[in-house]
Amino acid sequence: MTTPTMNAPASTAPAPTESQLSPSESVLQSMYESAKRLHLSAEVVALLRTSWREVRAQLPVRMDDRKLRIFEGYRVQHNGARGPYKGGVRFHPKADLDEVRALAMLMTYKCALMDLPFGGAKGGVMCDPARMSQTELNRLTRAYTQHIGMVLGINRDIPAPDMGTNAQTMAWMMDAYGQRYGYTPGIVTGKPVELGGSQGREQATGRGVALCMREYAALEKQNPADIRVAIQGYGNVGSWTARIASQQGFKIIAVSDVKGGIYKAGGLDVAEVNRWFAVAGSVAGFTGATPITNEQLLEIDCDYLVPAALGEAIDGTNAREVKARAVIEGANHPVTLAGDEVLSRRKVTVLPDILVNAGGVTVSYFEWTQNIQQFRWSLERVNDELERRMVSGFAELMSRAAKDGTRPRQAAFDIAVERVGKAILLRGFV
Ligand code: NAD
Repeated sequence: MTTPTMNAPASTAPAPTESQLSPSESVLQSMYESAKRLHLSAEVVALLRTSWREVRAQLPVRMDDRKLRIFEGYRVQHNGARGPYKGGVRFHPKADLDEVRALAMLMTYKCALMDLPFGGAKGGVMCDPARMSQTELNRLTRAYTQHIGMVLGINRDIPAPDMGTNAQTMAWMMDAYGQRYGYTPGIVTGKPVELGGSQGREQATGRGVALCMREYAALEKQNPADIRVAIQGYGNVGSWTARIASQQGFKIIAVSDVKGGIYKAGGLDVAEVNRWFAVAGSVAGFTGATPITNEQLLEIDCDYLVPAALGEAIDGTNAREVKARAVIEGANHPVTLAGDEVLSRRKVTVLPDILVNAGGVTVSYFEWTQNIQQFRWSLERVNDELERRMVSGFAELMSRAAKDGTRPRQAAFDIAVERVGKAILLRGFV
């Protein structure tokens, strides 16, 4: 074994400043640091540095006004040493290739950390789904599936929903793929239950976040009822986190979405917030709580802060204002490297995304397994299996961090990079 030298800025070069780092470079930085601690060979590091395959496609879509619009879409397959590629598809105006690349890398390490038999991938289309009709989204999803279909497969690459996509998007993808390659429900996960989706998939990511909060509170010997939680983002991840964490007894004092946030020192009634959200389409405007901005939410006086919206929400500047004693990363890459440094100096614990939001891909794994076996699990079985895996993933990570004297994120990357590195060697990639 040699220390990484090929293309490896991490071991010797000074860390770049935040403004110089793109999302993929900052994930690479974590990988390089782990590779150095693990004494991985330069060849293995070189393989992890780049994607195995990247597809960029032009997606022409006839809009409702009969005008043609050409969207840009991607599918990035980062590393498949441990199994078929797995990762969501994001519809977002900022879903550019570098972001998709970073998210694909995170999927490789998330699946490895949770010991799921998958590699990592991610897809994205630069579009604004909030400004598109259902018929336009249907046509766009079909165009995307048609253009990347050749790199998908039940044992090759299995997409899932992410920001801006949902179970309906997966149903369209499954249908478009099936028209060309034959009926294949296991080609995507996160489908509607009626089409072979798994019970519990929709809530799985939020359930996993709430389980991490519960385990961390137990480790701190704290009662959830004494823990004040602020959640940024009220989509799939944020809203289910709020719901399940409040059922576990946590006090949810603030939530927000793209339109703004709400705060109540004594704790919000999450069921009431949900009733308001169902009508208004936003938490903003909810009566019986104080309106706040997204910036204020991140800096609010609370115990746990859960960023569950976009990446890079907490950077080297606003990290100085975070009052929480723990940041629970519900979103992917919500804390930049500089933000992480500041939080660490200020003794704020950061539970990393590749553990915290892994509930979604874990239940996606259950869904894929059920599809392959043509068998259905009960909701109870799904939730039990998810809880078992989240609890053991959390315990393994925290005991590694304690043993090595590293931060949770470093421990998570060490476990994951070590597993992927071993698979690369065993498969004979190098
Ligand atoms: P979503 O589209 O359902 O919800 C996103 C939420 O963020 C919405 O409430 C939106 O209003 C809010 N938001 C958007 N821009 C914002 C801004 N500038 N400030 C504040 N809030 C803003 O997406 P999601 O599926 O909940 O995903 C959220 C994050 O979690 C993403 O980083 C995603 O990659 C990650 N994630 C999702 C899953 C999953 O299963 N859905 C799994 C793992 C990770």
